[in-house]
Amino acid sequence: MKVNYNVDEKGYYGDFGGAYIPEMLFPNVEELRQNYLKISAEASFKKEFDQLLRDYVGRPTPLYFAKRLSKKYNTKIYLKREDLCHTGAHKVNNTIGQILVAKRLGKNRIIAETGAGQHGVATATVCALMGIECVVYMGEVDIKRQAPNVARMKMLGAEVRAATSGSKTLKDATNEAIRDWINNPVDTHYIIGSVVGPHPYPDMVARFQSVISEEIKWQLLEKEGRENPDHVIACVGGGSNAAGSYYHYLNEPDVNIIAVEAAGKGIDSGESAATSVLGKEGVIHGSRTLLMQTPDGQITEPYSISAGLDYPGVGPMHAHLFRSGRAEFISVTDQEAMDWGIILSQLEGIIPAIETSHAFAILDHRKFGPEEIVVFNLSGRGDKDLNTYIDYFKL
Ligand SMILES: *Cc1c(COP(=O)(O)O)cnc(C)c1O
Repeated sequence: MKVNYNVDEKGYYGDFGGAYIPEMLFPNVEELRQNYLKISAEASFKKEFDQLLRDYVGRPTPLYFAKRLSKKYNTKIYLKREDLCHTGAHKVNNTIGQILVAKRLGKNRIIAETGAGQHGVATATVCALMGIECVVYMGEVDIKRQAPNVARMKMLGAEVRAATSGSKTLKDATNEAIRDWINNPVDTHYIIGSVVGPHPYPDMVARFQSVISEEIKWQLLEKEGRENPDHVIACVGGGSNAAGSYYHYLNEPDVNIIAVEAAGKGIDSGESAATSVLGKEGVIHGSRTLLMQTPDGQITEPYSISAGLDYPGVGPMHAHLFRSGRAEFISVTDQEAMDWGIILSQLEGIIPAIETSHAFAILDHRKFGPEEIVVFNLSGRGDKDLNTYIDYFKL
């Protein structure tokens, strides 16, 4: 039987996905489920989405042949430059898509949750663009740790609300956002920032991010005379930049898919975010997936030096890619990723986000042939991580 890697009618990727939500959230999620495909297929939606991606985000992002990197590793390496998107990463592709859906559902208020603040900034950005009220929930601890992103959100006109319960981090902010949505089902849309959450979020976010692999196809055809690379590689936190760069290759068996997770201080160190290897089946944020948990089912605190990979679960699409063997999963330590921040900067003049640096470290684990084409999704730029680089390397 042919395996399906896209979502099925019930919202599942193999054994994973679905919508495990409290009864009180059902109307909100159901309204979205009934409408997201219809809305995003409308000609007027496509036109507005494409126009904003082009004129506001700066798409298509270049597919750049990394000459010095290719020479050093004796293979053909291309970089998909999502770091050149407005706001510095791929996340804005999704927030643009979702705010256009929200407008068409008649919503005039947006909520979001954020950990490191990157998704909060991408959400505040599109709310400013559309003149829509924006409330971002953020753990009190994260607000202290991520002052520059809090300032950005405020400059953009968003209200940042502190989550003060529990560990005062991402999961508590998520709880607050869900509570808000339950109380405001009619006028509010909840923008989730990765391919996680109850169906239809993982599929909706993957579709908005799929512009990445759509562009890679024609760009590679122009440069190499073929649409398919031999390998496509991305880092995985929740999995949205990876989902976008794999999307149009999922059912192309000649394209090898590689997912790179954060091993933190090492897989066996107890301080890691290598979800696929360490995770067990369970439910987190409304979907059945692989997540890091104790034997009695309590979610384990994840750790990675990069805030964007520091998530205890992984999107259901990726759980399925892992279990079915469609994708190769590799994990990379903090130290390897940090070293690659320097290597890429000095070989190509590109300072990557620390999340992105993880993907490149695979070049030290895995050998590619001289005629093979390897595409890396360069998910974001390193400006936001400068302080971490400074502290780590005593720059
Ligand atoms: C948020 C972020 C990630 C991780 O999120 P995904 O949903 O897994 O893509 C990766 N890279 C950058 C630059 C990010 O900002």
